[in-house]
Amino acid sequence: MKISYYGSKLNISKLNILFALLLISIVSSAQGPPKEDGTFRKPELVELNKLDSTIRLDIRYATSDNFLGRPVYKQARAFLQRPAALALARANQSLRKKGYGLIIHDGYRPWSVTKIFWDATPADKKEFVADPSQGSRHNRGCAVDLSMFDLKTGKTVEMPSAYDEMSERSHINYQGGSAEARRLRDLLRAAMQSEGFAVYEPEWWHYDYKDWKEYPILNLSFSEIETPAKAQKH
Ligand SMILES: [Zn+2]
Repeated sequence: MKISYYGSKLNISKLNILFALLLISIVSSAQGPPKEDGTFRKPELVELNKLDSTIRLDIRYATSDNFLGRPVYKQARAFLQRPAALALARANQSLRKKGYGLIIHDGYRPWSVTKIFWDATPADKKEFVADPSQGSRHNRGCAVDLSMFDLKTGKTVEMPSAYDEMSERSHINYQGGSAEARRLRDLLRAAMQSEGFAVYEPEWWHYDYKDWKEYPILNLSFSEIETPAKAQKH
C-alpha cells in the first residue's frame, strides 16, 4: 500500500516535469522564427562593402542613433544574398556615374531583431515594421535600407524625410519637401528598380530584391555568417 502510494506520487511529479518541459517548448517555439514549408535556395550572404568597397555603411542599428535609441547589432556590417548584393553593386556603379554613391543603413537582419522592433513599436506605427510571425524580407537577406551620398562633398544627401521616420513624409509618393530632395529620392528609386529591386511604398529607403521568396528566414548573428575567408580556413 505504502509502496504504491509513493509510486503514484513519483508519477505525478514526473508528469509535472513533463508538463513543464512541454510548456517551455511551446513558449520557446512561439518566440522563434516561423516554420516555413517549401524548398529554398541555399543562403549565401555576401558582405556589401567587401563586394564593392565604394559602397558606404551607416549601420544605425549598431549605434544608439535609431528609433529604439539603443544598439541592437554588435557589429556594424551589412550583408545580402549574393544575387541581390551583385545587383546592388551595379546600382551603385550606375549612380556613381551621376555623382552619387550608395550608403547602406541595413541589409540582412536576424529574425530576433525583427521581433525586438515589433515589440517596441506602437500599434498605429506597425506598418513601418515587419510582423515576426511572417518574418521580414530583411530576414531573408533580400531587403536593404539605404540612401545616397554626394561624391563631391561626401555628405549624405537630403531626402524628403529622415531614415526610419515613421511619418507620411517617408512615403515614396510624398509630394512635400524640396524639389531637390524628391529628385534624389526618385533617382535612387530608378537606379534600384532597373536592377530588380522594388521600393516598399511607405518607406523611400527600403527595397526588396525580386528573388526574396526563394530564400528562407534566417536568424544568424553577423558573427555567425561564414564569409569566404573564414570558409577557406575549414
Ligand atoms: Zn527595411
